[in-house]
Amino acid sequence: METTVENIRLYNTLTRRKEKFEPIEKGTVRMYTCGPTVWDFAHIGNFRSFVFEDLLRRWLKYRGFKVVQVMNITDVDDRTIAASRKQGIPLDEHTGRYIKAFFEDIAALNLERAEHYPRATGNIPEMVTLIKKLIEKGYAYKGEDGSIYYDISKFKNYGELSKFKVEQLQAGARVKVDEYDKAEARDFALWKAWTEDEGNVFWETEIGKGRPGWHIECSAMSMKYLGETLDIHTGGVDNMFPHHENEIAQSEAVTGRKFVNCWVHCEHLLVEGKRMAKRFGNYYTLRDLTKLGHDPLVVRYLLLSTHYRQQFNFTFEGLNAAKNAIDRLRNFTRRLSYTDGSSSKGKAKHLAEHFKSEFTEAMDDDVNVGSALAALFEFVREVNNLIDVNSLSKEEAREIYDLIVGFDKVLGVIGEVKEEEKLPKEAEELILKREEARKAKDWKTADEIRTQLKNMGIIIEDTAQGMKWRMEKH
Ligand SMILES: [Zn+2]
Repeated sequence: METTVENIRLYNTLTRRKEKFEPIEKGTVRMYTCGPTVWDFAHIGNFRSFVFEDLLRRWLKYRGFKVVQVMNITDVDDRTIAASRKQGIPLDEHTGRYIKAFFEDIAALNLERAEHYPRATGNIPEMVTLIKKLIEKGYAYKGEDGSIYYDISKFKNYGELSKFKVEQLQAGARVKVDEYDKAEARDFALWKAWTEDEGNVFWETEIGKGRPGWHIECSAMSMKYLGETLDIHTGGVDNMFPHHENEIAQSEAVTGRKFVNCWVHCEHLLVEGKRMAKRFGNYYTLRDLTKLGHDPLVVRYLLLSTHYRQQFNFTFEGLNAAKNAIDRLRNFTRRLSYTDGSSSKGKAKHLAEHFKSEFTEAMDDDVNVGSALAALFEFVREVNNLIDVNSLSKEEAREIYDLIVGFDKVLGVIGEVKEEEKLPKEAEELILKREEARKAKDWKTADEIRTQLKNMGIIIEDTAQGMKWRMEKH
């Protein structure tokens, strides 16, 4: 596929518009993703954002860009400290467990590895440097408690990303916790002076004994690896305020330059129509779902199949539908691998071209995965029709197979089609014969063939989406 990248458009939260995407350096995308806070297992709401970011990354690569993605690991903040204290174990031992779990989970979900996964605790000097610069430039000050705060009244664009104006701030009103509401917008902590509550979590630095606030971590780690201005910064909508607002205030005050060209935010996830929360009993990690027997790739498919700017309602019914969708794709690729009929006389090529352009146009349009998937399943249906009437040659099937595998580099849901699940040639012939018999309403022959296939260990099911087969499990 040619790399006509000038068509990619992304919705930029900063301008609230879809904009033509253009990286600063031609051909290379520098993208920062707020990564996990490793105080506990990541939940499926977190993974919705991570899966979307992976889809975006894969699409940009498919379109010919080189992608340099940084995903930070927040391994020191209010929550990680509180959780490790509660467990009575050192912070790094506690976070180490969840870092390991996170990498296992993203591998199971088939997320491509980002280029860098910096940890907050490995970048303290960089944070201290930024804070010192903020003090020098008059944007930060030390409070009576010894902590260092960002003076939001000094930053004229404060509130621009989340579109609100800070009204009549009480001079010097401060917030020390990492997370708070817009109504509580005030000077926030860049550096938190050590207190006994934090046990042995502290760094002795030029700006005092303590540890960083959450927001300065991302400013430091993004600019260290990607430079002063990033092409794309992604995250969940719940990170927009205060986290991303504060990242902008910190970074731009230091550099005097625009911090991020395009902000991309992924919407919330609901579970069975409700906000996911432990107290509602609808809180799921990936592990909870795999324990129930769900394939992580099915979870991936489900999470990516709704457009990222729409709220997504996770249901178990949806999970089953996602399983059927993946089965259909896997059966289709298997079927292609042993198709050997007569030529479609150009029909297959025409369908493939049409599908390619529909899929591409949809994905270029702010990652409209819903339309892209609709085009894919329409294509599968039409090619299946050709195979049903024995009108797809081996060469045509091979080309379509390659096309599907190529797009699955973007979707990442089909996975390896197992060799042993390839149908023997005679079984394929029997299936075709059975389809003919069914079309002729010769149910007796159709049933006989079904029994014959069963004896070969192949189970045939007639579903609303057409015939399906699977190998009998031994
Ligand atoms: Zn962040």
